[in-house]
Amino acid sequence: MQTKKTKQKNLSNNQSAEKKYVSKYKSDLFKNKHIVEPKPICKLCNKVIENISSAIMEEDDYYSHFDCVIHLLNSKYNIMPPDKISYVGQGNFAIMGIKHEGGYYIKQKIQYETQERYKKMKEYVDSNMSY
Ligand SMILES: [Zn+2]
Repeated sequence: MQTKKTKQKNLSNNQSAEKKYVSKYKSDLFKNKHIVEPKPICKLCNKVIENISSAIMEEDDYYSHFDCVIHLLNSKYNIMPPDKISYVGQGNFAIMGIKHEGGYYIKQKIQYETQERYKKMKEYVDSNMSY
């Protein structure tokens, strides 16, 4: 008898939590009408990409977190400090080294997003976000 009651209580708790989430989501949509941001799943870590404008477009219309790509390139190119991976713009990353006199220089450029994907990503962000 006691178990059944607890079970039911849990169930109703779950339902109300779900309802709360949905209505919150809806009201947020109305409140922040200008922020209609798609939230795709990162191809590399399978977590939601909260900020699409800083995401990287992968092949086949997948997306990934900027940080996940940095992490991936670090292990792919066996980057050891003081070298580091940096984003250098236009969908390109680079392996950066430190000059003798200080400051970073580009050791090797890595084109991660193709120009086509970079352009597509930019269009996607532009068409899904309005400020
Ligand atoms: Zn990720």
